[in-house]
Amino acid sequence: MRIVLLGAPGAGKGTVAKLLSEFDGSVQISTGDILRAAVKDGTDLGREAKDYMDRGDLVPDALIMKIMEERLQKPDCGKGFILDGFPRTILQAEALKTLLERLKIKLDFVVNLEVPKDVILDRLTTRRTCSNPECQEIYNIKSNPPTAAGTCKKCGSPVIQRDDETVAAINNRLETYNEKTAPLIGFYEREGLLKNFLSLQSKETVAEIEKSLKNK
Ligand code: AMP
Repeated sequence: MRIVLLGAPGAGKGTVAKLLSEFDGSVQISTGDILRAAVKDGTDLGREAKDYMDRGDLVPDALIMKIMEERLQKPDCGKGFILDGFPRTILQAEALKTLLERLKIKLDFVVNLEVPKDVILDRLTTRRTCSNPECQEIYNIKSNPPTAAGTCKKCGSPVIQRDDETVAAINNRLETYNEKTAPLIGFYEREGLLKNFLSLQSKETVAEIEKSLKNK
């Protein structure tokens, strides 16, 4: 499959992308994960991106496009890809359109995950992430807690609250989403690629998306 996942922070893009990639081996490409790994590794990219990320601001478009131009040309994308957290601005969406035309790749469609705002806020403030950059398993202190000692069930590393998951950063991320990313819904609607999915349970949403792919 070749799809883009749109949705506010906390809409469950990461979880849905992971489940979809198990469906047919399409690779999950998360710009957030790529950036967090770069910050952890202390690369030039990580140093440039860190302050924007900690504040809950978007990393500059040019930096993101440089990452994605390279990423989308790696051989594993031949099986298909699920773009999770990219594009995030109209400029990125237009640059992606040009890039895909050049690479002769067609998107199946764009999935817009719709989640009520109170559900989003609850999810974001209760989310915890494994601190091991190789793992980054996501937990929720209410519905899917880590071990009693606060460690990851998969790799044993400490499970932490990300710097961008403080209340101030969360509010900023939601404002940034409304201002910069929500306009992509109209953009992809005009492109004839948008499909909306009310997303409360990730597994059910994934089943709906798989059904839409089969009926394409
Ligand atoms: P995420 O895990 O997708 O919520 O991304 C975490 C942070 O990484 C965001 O709050 C941004 O600072 C940055 N980021 C991720 N993807 C993008 C993107 N496509 N454009 C700009 N910044 C991004």
